[in-house]
Amino acid sequence: MNKPVIMWFRQDLRTRDLAALNAAASAGEVICLYILDDETPGEWKIGGAGRWWLRHSLAKLSRDVKLVLRRGRSDEVLASVIQETGASAVYFTRDYAPWSAPLELRVKSVCGKAGAACHRFGGYLLHEPESIQNGSGEPYRVYTPFSRACFATGEPRLPGAGARPVIWQGAVRSENLDDWNLAPAQPNWASQFGTTWQPGEEGARIALAKFIENGLAEYAEGRDRPDKAFTSRLSPHLHWGEISPAQCWLAIRAAMAKAGGRFDLSGEKFLREILWREFSYHILHHWPTLPELPFRREFADFPWGNDAPALQKWQQGLTGYPIVDAGMRELWATGTMHNRVRMVAASFLTKHLLISWREGAKWFWDTLVDADIASNSASWQWVAGCGADAAPYFRIFNPVLQGEKFDPDGAYVRRWVPELSDMPREYIHRPWQAPENFKAAYPAPMVEHGFARARALLALKQIKAGAA
Ligand SMILES: Cc1cc2nc3c(=O)[nH]c(=O)nc-3n(C[C@H](O)[C@H](O)[C@H](O)COP(=O)(O)OP(=O)(O)OC[C@H]3O[C@@H](n4cnc5c(N)ncnc54)[C@H](O)[C@@H]3O)c2cc1C
Repeated sequence: MNKPVIMWFRQDLRTRDLAALNAAASAGEVICLYILDDETPGEWKIGGAGRWWLRHSLAKLSRDVKLVLRRGRSDEVLASVIQETGASAVYFTRDYAPWSAPLELRVKSVCGKAGAACHRFGGYLLHEPESIQNGSGEPYRVYTPFSRACFATGEPRLPGAGARPVIWQGAVRSENLDDWNLAPAQPNWASQFGTTWQPGEEGARIALAKFIENGLAEYAEGRDRPDKAFTSRLSPHLHWGEISPAQCWLAIRAAMAKAGGRFDLSGEKFLREILWREFSYHILHHWPTLPELPFRREFADFPWGNDAPALQKWQQGLTGYPIVDAGMRELWATGTMHNRVRMVAASFLTKHLLISWREGAKWFWDTLVDADIASNSASWQWVAGCGADAAPYFRIFNPVLQGEKFDPDGAYVRRWVPELSDMPREYIHRPWQAPENFKAAYPAPMVEHGFARARALLALKQIKAGAA
């Protein structure tokens, strides 16, 4: 029997336009392997909502290719599978989490010791983080010049369809997906996620097509409206590699060309959002402490509070600010939250409550289906003011005005905060001012906006003064 090769699936849970799989398929009969590795990432092992997604995505992928499932440290599992099967090579897609570079080196060494070749491919990003540099050969710290440099590289290319892999029929031990217990422990708060999401490669293709059909025309104007469905909802599919950024990019370009200029503004805006994802990875790659430490070091001594009951109210959507509470409850019920509301909720935690962005990032890590070490860390730091290209420190979202501007009729709030469903429009984002007959069983604001704003500005100014 010929020696097989191993396709090690990671965050690239698809079969099309996948360079590593194409190369494996043309090298020999393929063992398609997925390893559930909770050890290598340590405290950043996949969170609860992510595990729900993973379970369904793996189930879908295993209908297209016979998947071998194993649990353990990736390098150790690869060593055993090579030994058990006599595989001659390992193919995989590069990953950019801080723990992945050392892991990939260990995998290379494992392969070397076993006499197997080790082939690593790109594709998770449009641009390798080292390939985009400023004029002095340094990484970018600011998004706009970074995005310009990306656009200047030209259009991405797809690796192409590739041959269908021929699956190796030899004996190799595989675990049972159901035994992995990937649904959250009781209470199973992810039980309704399936009404919102369709994980897997086909679900990703459908989401992209739906967006082009129904959302793209309105995207430039409407992407900030949580009460509308004008964004793509592609983030979990991109995170899990069920679709690549190049596939999305080229599909949007094709839709723009077909629409004869009508979608140009929205299309460009969407491509720029894809580049925010790239920028987050660029920053993470060059500053791998991003998930743990503030990018702007002057924030290291920021006096974050330690108010556990306040953190819990925020997590449960009981802050008394309807737009924040709607977002936190949407997150719990669906595993996602609209981007505008993520910004408002994150600003509320870090600036109104002075609770560390790390607490918020950890909660999002467990509850978001798109929880992503680069985008989550970079976005939290951006909102808190300590990140790369951060919002100016004096930008403190007013949750009432944000609600009134981006959810003007209160439809989003009414959906997620049903206690307020009968509240008249003029009070929906400030229910504490409503006349007595409209009072609802809804908490008063946990902190008054003017007071919180002044307190946050004082703390932030002290940092600025310290840094000068
Ligand atoms: C506090 C906070 C935490 C966040 N955590 C995550 C996270 O863990 N994972 C994640 O994918 N995104 C995160 N984001 C970014 C953003 O909110 C989501 O990518 C977006 O809401 C996904 O919805 P969509 O796919 O409909 O976006 P669209 O508007 O359709 O955008 C298209 C794609 O561009 C990318 N994108 C858009 N905005 C951003 C952004 N600000 N940063 C990086 N990439 C972006 C995403 O891949 C997205 O799917 C976070 C934002 C904030 C403010």
